[in-house]
This record gives sequence, structure tokens and C-alpha cells, in this order.
Amino acid sequence: MIQDIAPHRFNNAFKIQTPLYSDHFFIFRGNQVLVKKQGGENLLPLFSDITPYWPEVSDAARYIFSIDKENFFLVDESQANIVLPSGYALENIALFRTLEPQYLRFAGITAHQLYLWYEQSAFCGRCGQPMTDSTIERARVCPECGYINYPRISPAIIVAITDGQRLLMAKNSSYKHFALIAGFVEFGETFEDTVRREIYEEVGLRVKNIRYYKSQPWAFSGTEMVGFFADLDGDDTVTLRDHELQEARWFAYDEIPPSVDHLSIAQEMIEVVRQRRHTLVKNS
Ligand SMILES: [Zn+2]
Repeated sequence: MIQDIAPHRFNNAFKIQTPLYSDHFFIFRGNQVLVKKQGGENLLPLFSDITPYWPEVSDAARYIFSIDKENFFLVDESQANIVLPSGYALENIALFRTLEPQYLRFAGITAHQLYLWYEQSAFCGRCGQPMTDSTIERARVCPECGYINYPRISPAIIVAITDGQRLLMAKNSSYKHFALIAGFVEFGETFEDTVRREIYEEVGLRVKNIRYYKSQPWAFSGTEMVGFFADLDGDDTVTLRDHELQEARWFAYDEIPPSVDHLSIAQEMIEVVRQRRHTLVKNS
């Protein structure tokens, strides 16, 4: 999965740090990221690349995390009026799905998630005053009323339903591949409650033997995906109840297509069922 970057180690511990020339930085504008173009490839720029054009860049840089000994920063250029030098371009963040080396994909989407949060936490949600960075943790603080805003992470479940020979998959109108049932956790719910509710709401089925598998930070949508396997309980008739779903049906294990990539927990779980390894996942 995209966060599996071993042997590299991701470290998100909060600290205040000044960038070195050899450190990476991200400049985002909406869903675009600044990259350095070199021989047809997209590279993540370093501070040594931009300092000649913007000597005060470190004043606009926020340390966000490190991977091994490489530090990563967000740079806010919205007040700086920077003219991009030639050899640099803004590209859609979809490039993070294929960026090399692989650990930079995870760095890129995680940085973008934080960028969106900083943008959304510019003002206090309680009193409307401008917020400032906390000096002790990853948070935004309102100097007026004391309200504290932490990076927003939305838990969601994803579930592979099987009946001993088949896997249930669904397709929504905006996505061309069949996928697993998924949905956000709502107030007052355990993950297992969400699994039962989402399945019933979307395809009208009941399940039992709900087993936790793994979780995945999915920064593209600010989500923490929590994966489960579940067994069909009773009637196997699929009834589409969610207007966003175009089709949902049972796939015999032999009929399941091999996974298209290894980035998401969804693809990994589909592959686990295709190889019939889901029966090894037990309740702890
Ligand atoms: Zn406030």
C-alpha cells in the first residue's frame, strides 16, 4: 500500500525546524504541485533549487515530517509573488501515484493533506479570528478564544463481503472499476456498526463474523480507511439502495480481476480474496 515505505521510516513527530539546502519542500496550488522538470521526469525540488530565486524562502517554510534523515517542508508562496523560473512547472497531484522513489508518493499525498488543512484552518471556526500555529504540537490555535484545531482525519470503513465462494463488489457512476463497499463512520458508531449500516444501506445485505484486517491513511481524501472482512448472513439478493451505485454483484473467486496497482487497501483486500487468503483473517 502507498504508506508501506519500509525500509524507510516516516516520522511525523512535531518539531520546529529551519530548512537546510538539502531538504525537500512542497508548494501546492489547489490540486497542483510545483515540480522540477529534468529530462522528461518530475522531481521534487530542494531548497537549494529555489533559494537563488527566493532568498527568504525559509521564512515561509513549515516543517511537516521526515522520512529517514530527509526533512520535508510546506512552503506558503501565496504572499510572496514568486515568478517561477524556467524548468519548473505546476502539475496535478495525480503524479504522486507514480512518482519515484516510491516513498515520495506517500510524502507527496501526506503533504497535500496537511496543505489543505492549513488552508482550511486559516480562521477560527468558533469566533472567526485568524489562527496561528501552535508552538508545541501540530495544531492551529485561536489567539482570541483559545480554540484549537487539529488536522482533520475522517475515519471510513471498507469491507470485503464473501459467502464462501464469491466476493461482493460494486461500481459507482463516477468510477469504472468494481470496488469494495466503503463509507464514512457517522456519529455514535463503532467501526462494526458502520460496516453493518453501510452494507445494508448500499446493497441490502446482512453480514456476520466481521473481522478487522488493516488500516490505511488515504490522504487523497483525508481519510483513515479501516478494512474488514465479513461473511454474508442469510439472503444473498443484492438490492441497490444507494443512488450513487450503478451496479453491485457477486464475483466468483476465479472471476475476480487481478489488482491494478498496490496503492490502496481496497486493491490489497480484493487480491487477498482472489488468492482465498481472507479466511486466514480471524477475529482477535
Ligand atoms: Zn476563536
